[in-house]
Amino acid sequence: MASVFDTRIEFLKGMGTARAELLNKELGIFTFGDLLEHYPFRYEDRTRFSRISELNEQMPSAQILGRITGVELVKGKGKQRLVATFSDGTASMELVWFQSIGYFQKFLKIHSNYIVYGKPALFGGIFTIQHPEIELYQSDKPLPGYFQPIYSLTEKLRKKFIESKSFTGWIRTLLPQVEPYIHETLPESILTRYRLISKKTAYQYLHLPGNLQEQNQAQRRLKFEELFYNQLKLISLSLVRKNEFAGQIFNKTSLLTTFYKDHLPFDLTGAQKRVIREVFDDMKSGKQMNRLVQGDVGSGKTIVAFITMLMAIDGGAQGCMMAPTEILAQQHYTNLRKYCDLLHLNIRLLTGSSGKKERKEIHEGLLNGSLHILVGTHAVLEDVVQFHNLGICIIDEQHRFGVAQRARLWEKNTRTYPHMLVMTATPIPRTLAMTLFGDLDISEIDELPPGRKPIKTVHRYEANRLAVWGFMREELAKGRQIYVVFPLIEESEKLDLKNLFDGYENIRAAFPEYAVSIVHGKMKPKDKDYEMQRFKKGETQIMVATTVIEVGVDVPNASVMVIESAHRFGLSQLHQLRGRVGRGAEQSYCILMTGYELSKDTRKRMETMVESENGFYISKIDLELRGPGDLAGTQQSGLVDLKIANLARDEEILRIAREEAFDILHKDPGLEFAEHLPIKMHLSKIKDKSLSWSRIS
Ligand code: ADP
Ligand code: MG
Repeated sequence: MASVFDTRIEFLKGMGTARAELLNKELGIFTFGDLLEHYPFRYEDRTRFSRISELNEQMPSAQILGRITGVELVKGKGKQRLVATFSDGTASMELVWFQSIGYFQKFLKIHSNYIVYGKPALFGGIFTIQHPEIELYQSDKPLPGYFQPIYSLTEKLRKKFIESKSFTGWIRTLLPQVEPYIHETLPESILTRYRLISKKTAYQYLHLPGNLQEQNQAQRRLKFEELFYNQLKLISLSLVRKNEFAGQIFNKTSLLTTFYKDHLPFDLTGAQKRVIREVFDDMKSGKQMNRLVQGDVGSGKTIVAFITMLMAIDGGAQGCMMAPTEILAQQHYTNLRKYCDLLHLNIRLLTGSSGKKERKEIHEGLLNGSLHILVGTHAVLEDVVQFHNLGICIIDEQHRFGVAQRARLWEKNTRTYPHMLVMTATPIPRTLAMTLFGDLDISEIDELPPGRKPIKTVHRYEANRLAVWGFMREELAKGRQIYVVFPLIEESEKLDLKNLFDGYENIRAAFPEYAVSIVHGKMKPKDKDYEMQRFKKGETQIMVATTVIEVGVDVPNASVMVIESAHRFGLSQLHQLRGRVGRGAEQSYCILMTGYELSKDTRKRMETMVESENGFYISKIDLELRGPGDLAGTQQSGLVDLKIANLARDEEILRIAREEAFDILHKDPGLEFAEHLPIKMHLSKIKDKSLSWSRIS
């Protein structure tokens, strides 16, 4: 059904085809609806006027009412510039133009009053605004104080004199035309409960705010709406799944009890116990479990995984644990093997390098049920790998595996889908996890086992290099091993590789008495693994590498992590890298190397690393600094597509929106209640191609 919102913008009075075409091309704005939903991203306060005598350089911008007292064309060595003297009775200042000089020579009238707006800067003791916004002030009118919304624009648009003010003009024309057709999208009860303004008013206040309060009200309302629908979609998806997919009921605990009583190697932390309880509740619920366990490196996820598998084995089923690399799979296998031996359980490892005979044995053991646990890499996904009764799949380091791969694991048990436990050492803020993995329930191991020595983290500059090497030498002399990590990204791959090799040579020259490994992404996986193994076995003492050293790789004797050009890494990535050390009994160190000139953001990143070792806190800061789009592993998700809400700042709104969405779907899954009609109607409008709503409506 065509609506007024589908009207093409060239039909808006005052727009014209040329500008409409530019907006199509530059901003993807085609229709009235698009224009209405091109939200301003900030506001400039034009309600306040400053006097020239009050100006200071810290002001991001100032608005001044004054009079032009002189105009002069100055021809210096370089470009010529137009300089106007501007005064307001308290002092005078200069307005300067380097471009469109001819235009402004005509425009500026001496002794006329103007309102100017721009960033004041001091040049030779005189305040100056370059290329100010300027308009003639007609003195019979009151001072026109207002909030100017600022819209995202491109250079091309600016060249054609399309500015934020142009949008304000268009919206003024557009709103009265479309207003009668703007339907409320939230139920009355929610509007009342949270004192949210109507959708109609929200558009008005967002684009044409009269004051700060109106602007805030508009944002709050639209953020709520956005997050509410985001959660509604995700939750309904997970409700659908839970209602649809039964899970095997695992409620026996004889093996588990034996393990707890006789073999548990340490007391579980409170966080581990809590997560195990959450998992157990899922496993006995009769519904398929889909749970994400977030926990920093070293928080003890492995034992949680093992205990989860015991629950399934207790119930007569099998477990499978998948890791992204051979070396990680090997490591898990070695660790779990010890526990399995104590309990007389059969466990095998399956990777790309497993031999033919070995595979055959494994396949048979899985099929006849004598093999209880399979640990492996992607190799476990192959179709030939079939189970007698797969009850639980554990995926370690989740961000490497996509949803498609999870689905392939489901298919390994066609009678009842196996329970799924996904584990990640890259904690992301709960807010983000909720929007990103809304189809997974979330558990957090937010506590480290006792007695772990914090890693000492320091920030050092290029000039301190010799001292850093001196420190490395001391640690090596104590028998410790060291990682030195270099950045490598595709865009500057050649240069980065050169830096890596130069770094490698420098280290070899500086530490001739030690063996140095090198590992990078251009090497064949086999060679990488070989080199990693050498380091792990202690045959080499220094490992020079790019970020390919795997998450979760355990070399307890490695106690120093040097990160070169640390400013080029994201915060979460730095934290990940630091997690490679601190796995043994020794004091561990992380040294962040940078040059002296650092941006504000970089400083904040380095400071955060030095002051905190808490992955949840660090990822929150990372989210604030970079926004969700850049956070590790979330780029391709496509789920965090928010226009106005900000996951770093709007956690509280998200929480409420999620509660409400949950509550509504719980009470009224088909959205049949009269008061939920606005939701049902809005959903049918925004129907997402990728999600099927047929199931709930
Ligand atoms: P993660 O996989 O979360 O990075 P691991 O499961 O590898 O962490 O555990 C890190 C180390 O801590 C292992 O050596 C493990 O045996 C040990 N560990 C785990 N839980 C505890 C605990 N509750 N008390 C003491 N040590 C623990
Ligand atoms: Mg682990």
